[in-house]
This record gives sequence, structure tokens and C-alpha cells, in this order.
Amino acid sequence: SFEHNEMISDACASYTDIEEINQELRPLIRGITQGLDYFGYYRLNLFGKQCPFWSDNEGVCGNIACAVNTIDNEDEIPPIWRSAELSKLEGKKASHPPERKKEEPSPLAGALGEGKDESCIVEFDDCDERDYCVPDDETRSDGDYVSLLDNPERFTGYAGAGAAAVWSAIYRENCFSRAPLVKDTKSSSPSQPFGMLNSKSHMAAVNDLKQAVLEKPRLELVEKKNGNNHLALLDLDVDDQCLEKRVFYRVISGMHASISMHLCFDYLNQSTGEWGPNLDCFIQRFEGHPERIQNIYFNYALVLRAVAKLRNYLSEYTFCSGDAHHNKVTKTKMLELSTKAASSPQIFDESLMFKDANAIELKEDFKNRFRNVSRLMDCVGCDKCRLWGKVQTQGYGTSLKVLFEFDENKGVAENPPLRRTELVALVNTLDKLSTSLNAVSKFQQMWETRQLQE
Ligand code: FAD
Repeated sequence: SFEHNEMISDACASYTDIEEINQELRPLIRGITQGLDYFGYYRLNLFGKQCPFWSDNEGVCGNIACAVNTIDNEDEIPPIWRSAELSKLEGKKASHPPERKKEEPSPLAGALGEGKDESCIVEFDDCDERDYCVPDDETRSDGDYVSLLDNPERFTGYAGAGAAAVWSAIYRENCFSRAPLVKDTKSSSPSQPFGMLNSKSHMAAVNDLKQAVLEKPRLELVEKKNGNNHLALLDLDVDDQCLEKRVFYRVISGMHASISMHLCFDYLNQSTGEWGPNLDCFIQRFEGHPERIQNIYFNYALVLRAVAKLRNYLSEYTFCSGDAHHNKVTKTKMLELSTKAASSPQIFDESLMFKDANAIELKEDFKNRFRNVSRLMDCVGCDKCRLWGKVQTQGYGTSLKVLFEFDENKGVAENPPLRRTELVALVNTLDKLSTSLNAVSKFQQMWETRQLQE
């Protein structure tokens, strides 16, 4: 239902356009992440790595026992609702999914084109200089398989100084003028408790969110390239920062906003014991910050563009699940997603980035900083949060790798290899963003209803 011409003549990608794309693709994305085993299990080193930036002795909490005890009155709620319980992983971990046959591919064989039918790029140990993420499956013996379906991203109660320190360190990676992250145990933004807003701030929140959500302001800075209206979402109105730095900030802020959206949307009402959307949580986290919601849209556009760019690559990719039929279904669905993404209007134009004289250094810096963000996930003191933090940083890292290191006209042999975990993370990250967009409109409806009742 999207006319490219319409988009071009409009010279602008709007939030509505992205929502419409999401509506069209969402069933397919959900079908892939919820229906295919290949995308339902994630292999990662969840427990074996120390936080490389600080230790508990230095006063910043990096372990469950400490980080999860920050919710008030935990003693008053049943143990099963306490954050330590909520943070726990469900289902099998540290084990392989059932029926997974052992395959022993030469890790790079697929990439090199030799014996492509039998060989799989499953997981391999080496870090590639083109990676934007530190591979988590580097030590094969340390990896755990975790079911993503059994461990949905939702409210866990992880908050307080530990969580704030991680976010603060992540945002410090965005200071390109500074040295990359070094130990810094002092800074932490105060975390704010939830609660009903008073009526004055409630009205302020309502007005802000009306602007952010209901009116859906258009993404204004669409850059024109060579006289053509190539669409790019570059609407940060801020300062003189170069485009690449703005993009870096938006990626992490959009990831943060999506995590907040998930925890508000699948929130535990500790009075009733029911899980569901919490409008006050949404207002609390997005009040006065429409840009946080905008950054979710931005990330959706960025990740979807990476998926679109993989079309030729995926047509030659060998999916390895141990079951030929499953492999075939997986490939067909992934190709369908990638083809549909590629036929949507181009809403993110990566060719505008890393063009200047200092492009090579800037790209290296960008990459190293993003790698640090991925390392910071080992400082997250809640199992479930760490799991999804790792999946999503890997998903964005994979997107950046595809956007800046891949040639979309070429296939497997001439592009860098993609690990299974990278592909799984990429699609699950798109799924998270898709769910977040859905949540925005659900919150919008809830909020309209509340207004009518007031
Ligand atoms: P925080 O969300 O901790 O934010 C800290 C500060 O960052 C804010 O005060 C604000 O100044 C700024 N900020 C907030 N949002 C943005 C944004 N989008 N862009 C820019 N700046 C922003 N909790 C769960 O319940 N479930 C989870 O799955 C979960 N996963 C997590 C994953 C990671 C990697 C981390 C670090 C934390 C996770 N948490 C999770 C905790 C959660 O993100 C919050 O830290 C926690 O709920 C406390 O929220 P807060 O209101 O104190 O602000």
C-alpha cells in the first residue's frame, strides 16, 4: 500500500508511514520470532563474564542480589513477585534446544562458498574486525542456549543505582570527544519511583504525549542527495554534532526507550498479581521526552533497512537447524521479510554516513564505542535484562555491520559472514521495535479513554 512516488513527492518519511509499514510486516515478523525454533533460541554467554568496567567492590552494584533489592517494600510482597524472582530465567538454560542435531560445519565454509549445501555458518569464535559487537559466543564451551519465548522482555523490578550506572555508562560512550569508557563508578542518575502523577503533572504529561504520540510530528530533516529525495531519518534538531554521532545517540536512546516501553507494557500489578500495560509507567518515562518515542521509530527504520539489505545474502544463506524442512521454511520466511522490507520505501539512507575526510577514523571510533556498549551488558545485574540487553545490542551491532560493511548486491561469498546469533538477534530486535510501536498506539488508546473518563 506504499507508493514510492508518494513518498518521494512528499520528500518525507512520517511516523504514520513507519506505522503502516509495521502493520504490514508485523504478522510476518511475529511469525518468524514466535513460530520458528531457529529464532526462538539464543546462544550467549550469560553468566560467565565479569563486568569489564567496574567491580562490586568499587561501589557499583553489578550482581543480582544487590541490584534487585532497590524496590521499596520488597519484603511486603510475596516472594514470587520480588524482583529477584522476576529477573530469573525460565525454561532450559545452559543446554541445547531439544532435537537439535549436532552439526559440525567448517565455520567459514559457507562464506567461502565451498560445499555450501551442507555447510552452515552456525557460530564461530573469531572476532571479525568488521563486527560492531563483541561476540558473545566466543568460548563455545561457555555458551548457554536460552529460550527467548520462555523469557519475554517485561518488567523485572531491576532499578536503582546498578541500572542507572549501566545506562549512564552507555550514554557516556556517546561523548566522542572523550576517551572511550574507562572505569567510572561515581556517576549515576537518580532513579525515579513509579506512582500516580499528581493532576498538574498529569496534565503536563498528557499535553506532551499528545504532541509526541497523537499528533505524530513528521520527521523533518530528510536529506536530499544529488537532487534525489533519498529518505533518511535525521531529524535531531540539536546541535552541531555530526550525523554519525547523532545516529549513535539515537540508537542507544531508542534501545533504552524500547526497553522502557516493554517493561511498561508488560508490567506486574503487584496488587492484583496481573501482568499488563501500565499507563502511568508510560507517562512517567516518556513525559516531556517525545524524542524517546521518535528514537524507537528511528531504530525501526535503521534495523528494517539492514534486513532489507540482506536480501541477496539470505538467498544464498544456509540456515542450520538440523532439520531440512525447518531450514526451508525458515529461509522462505526470512526471504519474504527481507524482500518486503526492501520493497517498502527506503526510510533510512546509510550512504549519507561516513563520507567525510575523517570517515575511516570516525567509523573505527563509532565501532569501538558500540563494542563498549555491548561489553557493558555484562554489567547488567538482572538475568532477564542482561539476556535482552545482549540480544538487542547484538541486533543493533548486526544492523550496523550490515549497513556499513555489506554490499547489498552481493551474496554470501563476497560479504562478511553472519553468525546464526547475529541473525537471530537482528530479527528479534526488529520484533522488539515492532512491539514497541504497537505499544505506543495501545498506550495512546488507553490514554484517550482515561481522558474521556476524567
Ligand atoms: P532509567 O530507565 O534507568 O533511565 C536512567 C536515566 O536515563 C533517566 O533518568 C533519564 O534521564 C535517562 N533516559 C531514560 N530513558 C531515556 C531514553 N530513551 N533516551 C535518553 N535518555 C533516557 N527493567 C525491567 O523491568 N525489565 C527489563 O527487561 C530491563 N532491561 C534492562 C536492560 C538494560 C541493559 C538496563 C541497563 C536496564 C534494564 N532494566 C530493565 C532497568 C530499566 O531500564 C530502568 O533502569 C529501571 O526501570 C529504572 O528506571 P528509571 O525510571 O530509574 O530510569
